[in-house]
Amino acid sequence: MKMTKCNKPAICDQCQKDINKGDLYRKKSKRIGSSKVDTMEMRGGIPTIICHGITINIKICQPCAEINELQEVANHENR
Ligand SMILES: [Zn+2]
Repeated sequence: MKMTKCNKPAICDQCQKDINKGDLYRKKSKRIGSSKVDTMEMRGGIPTIICHGITINIKICQPCAEINELQEVANHENR
């Protein structure tokens, strides 16, 4: 598990608790909307990129990251 040291206070996306400066957190990206990749279309003769969803970067605090890790392992074992 790769953790990053926090240099700017943030809020955990999972438990909404504060991540303080100096705490360890995990960086994750989250897709909002459609998971379809962006496509290019011609709109009035102009090539236009059509976004179907956006990817945002979120931060997960250490306890949540550990819980996620355990769940991933559990899911893997169930398969
Ligand atoms: Zn959390």
